[in-house]
Amino acid sequence: EPLFDDQQFLLSQSSPFESHEPIKIYPWTDELFARLNNYFHIQSFRPNQLEAINSTLQSKDVFVLMPTGGGKSLCYQLPAIMKSGTTHGTTVVISPLISLMQDQVESLLSLNIKTSMFSSKNSAQQRKITFDLLLNNKLNLIYISPEMISSSKQCQEAIHSLYQQGNLARVVIDEAHCVSNWGHDFRPDYKKLNIFKQKYPEVPVIALTATANEFVQNDIIKNLGLNNPATFRQSFNRDNLYYQILPKDKTTIPLMAKFIKELFPNQTGIIYCHSKSSCEKLATLLQKENISCQFYHAGMNQNDRIHVQKQWQNNQIQVIVATIAFGMGIDKADVRFVFHYTVPRTLENYYQETGRAGRDGKYSYCITFYSLSDVRTLQKMIQRDKNLDKENKLRHLDKLKEVMQYCDDKITCRRKLVLSYFSEEFNSKDCHCNCDNCSKKTTSQSTLTGETITNDVEEEEKDITDVTKQIVELVSSIHNEKVTASYCQDIIRGSKMSKIVQAGHDDLAQHGKGKDFNKADMERIFFHLITLRILQEYSINNNMGFASNYVKVGPNAKNLKNPSYSIHLKFYKEKRQRITSKTTSQESSSQKNKDFGFIAAYKSRKVKQVSRPPAHESV
Ligand code: ADP
Ligand code: MG
Ligand code: ZN
Repeated sequence: EPLFDDQQFLLSQSSPFESHEPIKIYPWTDELFARLNNYFHIQSFRPNQLEAINSTLQSKDVFVLMPTGGGKSLCYQLPAIMKSGTTHGTTVVISPLISLMQDQVESLLSLNIKTSMFSSKNSAQQRKITFDLLLNNKLNLIYISPEMISSSKQCQEAIHSLYQQGNLARVVIDEAHCVSNWGHDFRPDYKKLNIFKQKYPEVPVIALTATANEFVQNDIIKNLGLNNPATFRQSFNRDNLYYQILPKDKTTIPLMAKFIKELFPNQTGIIYCHSKSSCEKLATLLQKENISCQFYHAGMNQNDRIHVQKQWQNNQIQVIVATIAFGMGIDKADVRFVFHYTVPRTLENYYQETGRAGRDGKYSYCITFYSLSDVRTLQKMIQRDKNLDKENKLRHLDKLKEVMQYCDDKITCRRKLVLSYFSEEFNSKDCHCNCDNCSKKTTSQSTLTGETITNDVEEEEKDITDVTKQIVELVSSIHNEKVTASYCQDIIRGSKMSKIVQAGHDDLAQHGKGKDFNKADMERIFFHLITLRILQEYSINNNMGFASNYVKVGPNAKNLKNPSYSIHLKFYKEKRQRITSKTTSQESSSQKNKDFGFIAAYKSRKVKQVSRPPAHESV
């Protein structure tokens, strides 16, 4: 049975890029379509674009949620050149990055739309010219950086004059998630953008973002003071992305190198890492494998960063190895793969980062290499982060736990999991085996090895209340000695390590419940207990200046005294059966098994994707 059936794929998918709504007629509708064609050379709208535009032309506040590449800009650029409708004058656009603004201004000018920008980069001379144009009502749009709004008196006065002349048409807050502390790109200057609604309550505001999280959405609306906004959101499913989680171990780097060389020759990609040093190390290792790549992180000076990004954008570098500093403003349409060499800290980040693949609508791959020890590293980084207060730490730890659950899940459709995080219901049938878990349920023929493989995963929920009680007992009896979580894990599993025997804890472990769990499962149990605050980690700086993490009993351990309190955790067992094996060597066959899912999906897609038009093209 084939892994992908494109015919079915085409008919049943509900792409976020296809509009099916009947068109409502307003006094401005004719002009709108005329200008859409004449200025933007576009024939039809994508979902929600027309609806959002009609709302803002009715002077309503508007909130637009659209996945990256969905076409948010048109929602305010087209109204900005309209003559009919309820507002006229200049549209003020706030955008977080100067490079983003420059790109937009250039492309609008090339469409003969009168646009300018205003940022700290301008000379006094340039500013004067811009203000003259603005105050003589010569501009359709003006892009302004948030710093200018919050700190430049000159800028604030110019906007005020524009308003007094009755020429402040509307205010656009692009990348509006920057308003929220809970978004993935918080900018302090964005907080001050609430002045628009305070000072000019009747001037309509449009806020746009690709952030799907509901909590962040409400935060944005509240912070900007939007007045009962017309809200447009659509499916965030990215149907041209393949999602996969692979275990991370010693073979990961050679495996990534192999993927890049064999499956993505000359195709662009991004690899995300959690730290500056791991970026640099990984980039060096991949360069040794003759892969054209460069690292990118916040520790580099700005010129170097711009240089690397430009080279990558112009296909002079194939792969960029980056921290999350490589994010907003990345606008390369043909990114064919995004690898996470370290798991992201939140599912929100996961969605945004993987979302940089396939903006041109062509099939692309998102592979995350997952190890529990990386999750633990991130957990420690959060616990030690001096910029986070206690409440924020807990929040971040919870988000990390969600990432871990996502990676641990070997059964549920990845799309369903990600979208449910964004409160979107998704029927896994609509995934059409475009994620590892959905394609696992199939029997398939490996195009590489000729093996037929059935994948099956068993999920088992275990009651871990008893073993938890023993863990708590153990930790409370020895925490005075400053013990690490992994030391306690060894004891509870009955380790015969001499250090432990010497310390006299071996009897504690003799009759323990911990023997039923392997090392990885026990690590997961501890992780879970730390997130439940039944256990707690604390760090102490030693005289070398390094912090070590130790474990003690946490405040919620008291819940265990309640006889009706129980703790459950899911465990997974993977059963993989080869029906006909053509490989003889045990070792090579297990290696092939490991990358099988991905390669089979790739090969099969490569042949079939030809028949599928890019999802971005409007119908
Ligand atoms: P976003 O800001 O949502 O990430 P953009 O506004 O940058 O996306 O639009 C992405 C691309 O889609 C642009 O190249 C834009 O010209 C194109 N686009 C937008 N709307 C339409 C449409 N209705 N039909 C065809 N192309 C469109
Ligand atoms: Mg945009
Ligand atoms: Zn799926």
